Amino acid sequence: MEKIRMTTPIVEMDGDEMTRVMWKMIKDTLILPFVDLKTEYYDLGLVKRNETDDQITIDSANATKKYGVAVKCATITPNAARMTEYNLKEMWKSPNGTIRAIMDGTVFRTPITVKGITPYIPTWTKPITIARHAYGDIYKNTEMSVEKGCKAELVVTDENGNETRKLIHDFTNSSGIIQGVHNIDASIESFARTCFNYALDVKQDLWFAAKDTISKTYDHRFKDIFNDIFENEYKEKFEKAGIVYFYTLIDDAVARTVGSEGGYIWACKNYDGDVMSDMAAKAFGSLGMMTSVLVSPDGKYEYEAAHGTVTRHYYRHLEGERATANPVATIFAWSGAIKKRGELDNNAELEAFGKAIEEATLSVLESGVMTKDLLALSNLENKKAVYTDEFLDAIAAKISEILGK
Ligand code: NAP
Ligand code: MG
Repeated sequence: MEKIRMTTPIVEMDGDEMTRVMWKMIKDTLILPFVDLKTEYYDLGLVKRNETDDQITIDSANATKKYGVAVKCATITPNAARMTEYNLKEMWKSPNGTIRAIMDGTVFRTPITVKGITPYIPTWTKPITIARHAYGDIYKNTEMSVEKGCKAELVVTDENGNETRKLIHDFTNSSGIIQGVHNIDASIESFARTCFNYALDVKQDLWFAAKDTISKTYDHRFKDIFNDIFENEYKEKFEKAGIVYFYTLIDDAVARTVGSEGGYIWACKNYDGDVMSDMAAKAFGSLGMMTSVLVSPDGKYEYEAAHGTVTRHYYRHLEGERATANPVATIFAWSGAIKKRGELDNNAELEAFGKAIEEATLSVLESGVMTKDLLALSNLENKKAVYTDEFLDAIAAKISEILGK
């Protein structure tokens, strides 16, 4: 059998625990039998990150900037317990945070919708993608407790030492708390452009929501930047693509979302995106069915599953138990990267193969064959839980059928 050829490599970022185990299974069963796979391999497993003082993570992000397409396995973000478990030199930072900072990217999270799994909101027949601005606001804040009798002010000092002051609150009658947050125009502009480009890429409407009626300078700046960039750079492109951009208040967006049928991208400020993406993930079903792509403003893509390394399953795997974890989100990370590589290289065969992986996966799920986590969610009558390897074998058979091989 002739394998599908590739011209440019995909940046492959391997990871940790159960997802690392599934990573190899997916490659061996679904990819390597069909494609003469070209990847530039980076092992982001915690052992290797520790060995290289995390340089490997930086290298993998730079490779993504060079080649434009990456696929990433879930990785451990170390905490105190991992320090001893892996005998770490340092509590290395989250690889996702490092990669996001180097690529200046925005994360888009989209659920995989499939017949037989009804979202908690049954009118949601199409996926809702949440785009989260991953810079600033309360995630880079400065907070203080304030004693009774104090006065708190905002002070900005310019280059010449001149101060501008504004009263935050006079704490004459009670102690309390204050918080200073910031954002920068350059980051908001990147976020806006990335969202507009992504909407054009997937041909879906884009919503942006904040609270500019209350936050007349801060949130209003976000609204203005989105609006200016849209009017000057994207309006015509959106019209041509038959899609819409609009701004609305965050509470209105929440209410509209509940009544919607889905099928759009919702751009959120950092905190709103943090909250709404977990709400959407749960409402659509399972973490095992949520994909994630990091997109840079200059059009570089890094695909991954939204879930972590599924630690409990890994410990059971080490005891010799057969795997039951759900590989779907990781499969879609691979198919997303393969489709994008095919598209960028004008490699129609590769792009079609990426689509075939997704079609085959959905078809197997819709035939009632699924991993254990989906069983309770599925309303198919003939549903049946299978092991991860059996599930992958069923998908591989279906891919062969689709490709006529
Ligand atoms: P998690 O790995 O997403 O797992 C949480 C729980 O959700 C699992 O224990 C499992 O529940 C269920 N689950 C998630 N994905 C599943 C799948 N594919 N198939 C079946 N069940 C699945 O999150 P976590 O336990 O909070 O974090 C574990 C490690 O992952 C941590 O070290 C964390 O740093 C890392 N992490 C990495 C990323 C990333 O690389 N993007 C993201 C998040 C977390 P049951 O055990 O009940 O079956
Ligand atoms: Mg969250």
